[in-house]
Amino acid sequence: MEKIKLGISTCLLGENVRYDGGHKLDRFLTDTLGQYVEYVPVCPEVECGLPIPRESMHLEGDPDSPRLVTIRTKQDMTDRMVQWARNRIINLEKEDLCGFIFKSDSPSSGMERVKVYNEKGMPVKKGVGMFAKIFMDHFPLLPVEEEGRFHDPNLRENFIERIFTLKRWREVLERKESRGNVVDFHTRHKLLILSHSPKHYQTMGKLVAKAKDFPLKELYQKYQTLLMESLYLKTSPKKNANVLQHLMGYFKEQLSSDEKKELLEVIDHYRQEYIPLIVPITLIQHYVRKYDQPYLKQQVYLNPHPLELQLRNHV
Ligand code: SF4
Repeated sequence: MEKIKLGISTCLLGENVRYDGGHKLDRFLTDTLGQYVEYVPVCPEVECGLPIPRESMHLEGDPDSPRLVTIRTKQDMTDRMVQWARNRIINLEKEDLCGFIFKSDSPSSGMERVKVYNEKGMPVKKGVGMFAKIFMDHFPLLPVEEEGRFHDPNLRENFIERIFTLKRWREVLERKESRGNVVDFHTRHKLLILSHSPKHYQTMGKLVAKAKDFPLKELYQKYQTLLMESLYLKTSPKKNANVLQHLMGYFKEQLSSDEKKELLEVIDHYRQEYIPLIVPITLIQHYVRKYDQPYLKQQVYLNPHPLELQLRNHV
């Protein structure tokens, strides 16, 4: 797989672009995830023409439609930022991004819970950074995350799983449109979708079964929307345990009673969160190889992102 293109707030890469001339280098993003990703850096404040260093800014007014204002001299930067952001978005459309990682708490780049100050100078954490909002409104289905939330292993795994899946889907889009390509992609991703949303699993199964009833463009669009919606929903030990038991069903005839007992125990220990997901997955991968299950061999659920990222060691 070629590298995945992701937008990122420039200061997270260690560039000295912040208002105080500093940066917010994040080593996980540069050194670990960076091995699989090609970043497209975006610093709204510098790219809209503000200097380094510069006066710091915050959001003011209505949390749903705040103004971007410098704190000391009260210069309103809203129009300048909005105009620049709209042009930058058109430019970013050509980049074929699979997601964006924003710098948290920034009045320009923060994705959520950014402070918005009222006329008395009191903050409420209900705002969205001005560029981040325009970006997310324009690309509603793209995976987005903030660097601070990567400390939560579940959010980290979810985001990374989504960008790898979107990249695989984009590879399907690069090929000639055909119903067979959608069916093939769906067949490989079925259990991954089930682990996020049994409801989407059913809806998407029906869509693919009736693929012939839809014009190709409509089929691709519907499928893509459902895919991104389903993966946005979080997995849980309960949902994953159901998928693991579903997987176990494929070995019903082959597993010895001892092997069955052991696998059931491991799944149950995972469901109770005594052990991480990687443990039952490794055991099932062993049986997939041992009993040569071609259908399971192609299931992305067993291998959705590089093992080296160790994402399933912590969920
Ligand atoms: S938070 Fe956004 S605007 Fe601020 S320095 Fe980082 S990239 Fe630039």
